[in-house]
Order: sequence, then structure tokens, then C-alpha cells
Amino acid sequence: MLLATDLDGTFLAGNPDHRLKLYQLISAHPEIDLVFVTGRGLESVLPLLSDPTIPQPDYIICDVGCTVVHGDSQQAIHPIQGEIDELWPGQQTVEDAISSFAGLQRQEVPQERRVSYFCDGEFVSDQLRSAAESLSCEVLFSAGKYLDILPKGVNKGSTLTRLVEHLGVDPETVLVAGDTLNDLSMYQQVFKGVCVGASESGLLEATEHQARVYHAEAPGCGGILEAFEHFGYLGHAGIEAEIPDAMNSGKSDLVIVYHRLPYEEVVENGELIRRRPKSPNGIIPTLLSFFADGKAGSWVAWSIDDPELGPFQTHTEVDTRRYEKLVAARVPLTKEDVEIFYKRFSKEAFWPTLHTFWERATFRDDHWQVFLKVNKLFAERTAAEAAENAVVWIHDYNLWMVPAYLRELRPDVTIAFFHHTYFPSADVFNVLPWRREIIGSLLQCDHIGFHIPKQAENFVDVARGVTPLEVTQRAGCAPRFLTYGCAVGLDEMSTEIKVNERRIGLGAHPVGLDLNRVRNALNDSDVQARMEALREELEDVRLILSVERLDFTKGIIEKLHAYERMLNEHPELETKVTLMMVCVPAAKGMTIYEELLSQIEQTVGRINGQFARVGWTPVQFFFRALPFEELVAYYTMADVMWITPLRDGLNLVAKEYIATQGLTQGSGVLVLSEFAGAAAELRGAILANPHHPQDLADTCYYALAMSRSEARNRLTEAFEAVCRYDIGYWGQEFIDSVEERRASKLKKIVDIGQSAA
Ligand code: UDP
Repeated sequence: MLLATDLDGTFLAGNPDHRLKLYQLISAHPEIDLVFVTGRGLESVLPLLSDPTIPQPDYIICDVGCTVVHGDSQQAIHPIQGEIDELWPGQQTVEDAISSFAGLQRQEVPQERRVSYFCDGEFVSDQLRSAAESLSCEVLFSAGKYLDILPKGVNKGSTLTRLVEHLGVDPETVLVAGDTLNDLSMYQQVFKGVCVGASESGLLEATEHQARVYHAEAPGCGGILEAFEHFGYLGHAGIEAEIPDAMNSGKSDLVIVYHRLPYEEVVENGELIRRRPKSPNGIIPTLLSFFADGKAGSWVAWSIDDPELGPFQTHTEVDTRRYEKLVAARVPLTKEDVEIFYKRFSKEAFWPTLHTFWERATFRDDHWQVFLKVNKLFAERTAAEAAENAVVWIHDYNLWMVPAYLRELRPDVTIAFFHHTYFPSADVFNVLPWRREIIGSLLQCDHIGFHIPKQAENFVDVARGVTPLEVTQRAGCAPRFLTYGCAVGLDEMSTEIKVNERRIGLGAHPVGLDLNRVRNALNDSDVQARMEALREELEDVRLILSVERLDFTKGIIEKLHAYERMLNEHPELETKVTLMMVCVPAAKGMTIYEELLSQIEQTVGRINGQFARVGWTPVQFFFRALPFEELVAYYTMADVMWITPLRDGLNLVAKEYIATQGLTQGSGVLVLSEFAGAAAELRGAILANPHHPQDLADTCYYALAMSRSEARNRLTEAFEAVCRYDIGYWGQEFIDSVEERRASKLKKIVDIGQSAA
């Protein structure tokens, strides 16, 4: 069959159960051709195409019949579109002839090949009709207020008829659905039709005596379902049976969806062994802590399905002693899927774009398909784990499309998403070829968290370009966050948005530190011995420390150039300072980093070649990952911590340095890029613009020259923030925000139930 349906008041209306049922029915029957036939302009239909809960149309007839396009590509369907274009005199011509008529107010909505106004019925005069006539146009007036000037003879019904002919579809198999007078033309053809419940009386009167038109009781989708029964589409009794069973609920009240398992898997002697992660940052233990009270939970993550290791185990224990009812639910992926999903696509397409280096990104549709496949597997596993009304907490951009698939499977769950990576504004994000799908997916969440307000606001900026949205709550960002004081500061942020009656909470939740991890390292006797040795080695030399992964976002070359500039401008620093640069290699096979490494090595070589003296090396370059404990020893000894990424979601190293210096009553100075998320949080740091070579050199010099008292005051300020907003605070604040969303969602369901009763 072919279902040609009006949108507003029809396909987008009706009670939520009817909508879900009709949408599921259509999705389960790919043989049904779906045609949206709407008065909206094409641009206003696009937001629906990014909504994963609405079935995608095969064809779209919009602008009250004046525009006809393919659903997937939105390209015009010829020759039908060409014929309509021939008839249209042009917007300017029509406006010039019509606008002077009394009582017309131009509709400020997207429109093509038609001109639309608001007006009262009394102003729809014969003169107006003849003015339209003289342009070879005609007037369509509906719902007592919408007036359209259309090319003559073009309306929803005429274009639908042309499309049905063009596709060679049997008109007997067509069902049209609508609710207002501007749908009338669809019923005046040979098709079967339904006027859904609560249709405009004019439409009901006009179709009253048409035997092939059914007047339904239920409004919106409910009316279409009635018509399916009435006309015997899909079999009279078949409709119920055809709908796939709603996904059975699992047992977990909290499901964490993270790309990594909460333990390490290693293969030893051909056997898969699990062990606690060697050097976890605080995130995994914090997430685990939510299960310490015996809460039933699942941790969904991928694992390689290697047939050589025997049958794949979907469920494993995590730590029954500490987290009694927590299981790891493993998503089996092949080595090849992991390679593409994780190492290639996420890193080569999304990572550069998110960090505003979009010109470095490579977009491949075949890789996007792998990304979708993997995200779907994650969503299916999650849907099977979550108990009714559970909270599902999804992590980071690798899993962007999980909410879309999950919402369809489990409308009941509360979906929360934390974005660990920088989130850019629309100017950059819109470069992503799949931006509509990604945003459509994220808008299925109930709460979305970012590190800092600016990133949340950037999300709103991007979402607004995809769909109409209303900001329903805002909050000031100070005093916790910087406002005008850094490049990523913001004075006020949106904390709730409304999209299609759904409310989505937004929050700024910067990841914090586990201070005990730093304390433990400081108490470690090996670390203390290392600190002692360093103290002797560095006796007369001031240490500038730089620690980062090998990545073009980290501004490593810019920093080296600034160091060179500083040495040139301040010859007195020779033999007195040393830059220790710890650079952590990227995972194996990441070819995009090879060129950067060779540039760094050359620059280090040049600086050392130019400035070195016997017994003094200006730059010491360590190209390896150091154990956290050793890093803490360096943090203790560094006079200046120099962290100058060009763009960074947060930067934990900055916080680790502050924590170490604070816990040891040090007086080290943090020089931090104003483009790192942590800059919006860490008052007391010296902020630098890494894009400005002179500023980079000057701020480093300023830090070296700073008085001890100023350094201590600055440190105290930053240390307070690091202590107060630690990793425990992060997890609790996030989960509290999500629980609040969940409670208001459940209350809404109860309220609806009561008002229905
Ligand atoms: N790190 C480490 N050894 C090293 C360098 C870094 O263990 O040699 C750790 C560091 O302690 C920090 C993390 O790696 O916790 C880096 O996090 P950050 O947010 O600074 O940067 P990202 O790598 O996430 O961009």
C-alpha cells in the first residue's frame, strides 16, 4: 500500500500510544510506501527526518503540493516538479500583485513556489481571487486563517495523483489521511481516504457523502489505525499481530554504556584473563561506585569476538565482592569492526571535527555504516539489560547514535549522555555530513552533560540549526565558571530545551580528580625516591613541565616555537631553565600522527642544536607514557606546568598538577591555554592564547618570574576548585540531574494516567 498523509494534526498527532503503534507498524512493513503530504515548506519537514522516532518517508509532497521530492535525498522528482515550476510566476511577482490587499499578514515560514499569508475569511474577496487568477494562480484558504497563493491547478491532491501515476502504483492501494480543508483535494481523487478524528468541520462536510472516505473517531495516528482496520489493510485482524513485541525489560536499574569495560582483558597462553585496570583515571572507579550499594546494574562495553578463544561470553562478573549485582554486558565486535569504529572513523572523522580541525577530517560513508552498526549493537544490548524505567548513562561521541536506536526499543528508559570531548559551535560541527542524524539521536536523551557551559551552549547552537527548539530554562555560569575571562567562558547557559514537547536537560559537569590517587602516589616510597633524585638533578635549573598525548590538538609545535622565542628574547634563561616534554604515543596504527611526531622531533633537535651547552639540554623530550606515580614526581618538581592545547575538552593533567602542588604546599605556576575546558574552571591559572606566539612566550616567562607569594595565592585558588569539584562531585552531580529528569518524567506519566481516568 501507499499511505499519503498530512503531517500536522494527522501523522504527527494522536495519543502517544497510537503514534508509537502506527510508527512501529510502518517500520515493520517496509513494503508500505510512505508519502508525507504537507502544507509545510521542505525546510520545515527536515527536522522530522532527523527524528529517529518518526518513520522516514519515501516521498515528500510539501508546500501544499508545489514541491515534490524523494524522501532520502530530498532531490526533486522530475518531470512532476518541472511541470509545477513552469506554472509558477515567481514569488516577487505574486507578492507585488497581492500584498496590497487588506487583511493579509505574510507568514514568515519557509515556503517555495507559493506565497502564504494569515488572513480572516472576510478578506478572501473576489478581487483577490481574480488578482491571483490574472497571474495564472489560485487561492486556497483553510482552517479559517491560512491563505495560500498557488500555481493554478496545483494542490496536494493533484501532485499526489501525478506521483502515483509516475510510480506506477495501483490507485486502489492508496490511502490518504488528513484533517483540514487543504487536504480536501486528496479526497477528490480516486483514492480511499480517512479524515482523522477532530478534523476541520469543512473537510468533514465536504467528504460526508464520499463512500471511499472514512471518518475516524480517534484523532491523528489513532484515526489512521482505524482506517487500516476499516479498509482491511494488512488484514483486519493482523494489525495487532504485525507489530513487533516491545523489547522485554532486563533487570538493571542503572546501565552504564561506555566504550571500555571496567576491567582489562588480556590474552595469556591463549586464554582471556580479566584484571583490574592498571592505571585508571578516576572515571571508571567513580562510575563503579554507583553500584557499591548493591544496585542492580550492567556495564555495556565492546569486546573482541575471537573464535580462537572459544564461544563469546556476553555476560561476565565485574567484582561480586564490591559490586554484588553488577555485570559486564559485552558487545561482540570483530577486530575489523574495532579497527574501523574506534581507531579509524572515530579518530579520523569525529575527533578532528569536534576539536575544530575539520580540514583534517576524512568522511567515509562505508565507515559511517560500521559506526551505525556498532552503535545499534550497543543499543540492543542496552535495551535488553535495562529494567523498566531504568537510567541509562551513555558516554562520549563513539556512542552518539545509541540514543536513537535505544529510544525506539525502550521509550520508558531515562537516557543520559555525557560528552567527554570538546563540543564545537555550529560553524564547525555542521561540517559533519551526518550532523542531522547525530543531533536527532542526542535529542532523544533526557539529560546531556558537557564539561563546561560553553560546550553545552554550542550544542544548543548546533541543535537549533537542525530542528525548532525552545530554551525553557537558563542559568548564570558564574561564580563556578569563568564568564568573560577566557576563550571558552560564558556568562549564561541553557539548562533545559524543549523539542517536540520533549524536555531535555543540559548541564555543565567538568570531570574532576580522585585526590586520593594523587595522595597515594605522593606517599609511595618509589615516588619519594624519584623526587629526591630529581631535586638533586635539577638543583640550579627551573623545570618547565609539559605533559600530553601526541595529538595535533595539543599545540605541541606551537609550544616549542614559543619556548624558542622565549630563549631568544631572554638570554639570561640559558642554562637556568629546562623544558621537559612528556609526549604519550598514540595507539598503534594511527598514521595521522606520524607526520606530527617527525615535526616535533625536528623542532626539538633544532632548539637543542642551537641553544645547548655542555651539561645543559634546553628541551628533554620523552616519547612514552609514564606511570601515573612517576608523573606525580615530576608534577611535584615542576616550577611551571605548561599546558597549551589549541583545543581541549577539559584537560586533567592541569588539575593533577594543581592537586599535587596543593597537597605538597608547593608554589608552582600553571600556565594553561584559554581554549582548554579546565580554563573555565581553574581560577588562579595564568591563561594563554596558544594561537598567539608572543602571548605564549610571554605568559611562560611571566610564570617563571612570578613572586612566590603570588604563585601561592594563585595555587590556593585553583586547589580549592580541584578539591571541591572532585570526581565524586562530578558523578553525583550528574546522576542527581538525571534522577531529577527521571522523577519528572514518571510524574508526567502518572498525571496523564490520572487525567485519562
Ligand atoms: N598520563 C599518564 N602518563 C603520561 C601522560 C599522561 O598517565 O605519561 C595521564 C594523565 O595523568 C591524565 C591523562 O593521562 O590523567 C590525560 O588526560 P587529559 O585530560 O589531560 O588529556 P586527554 O588525553 O584526555 O586529551
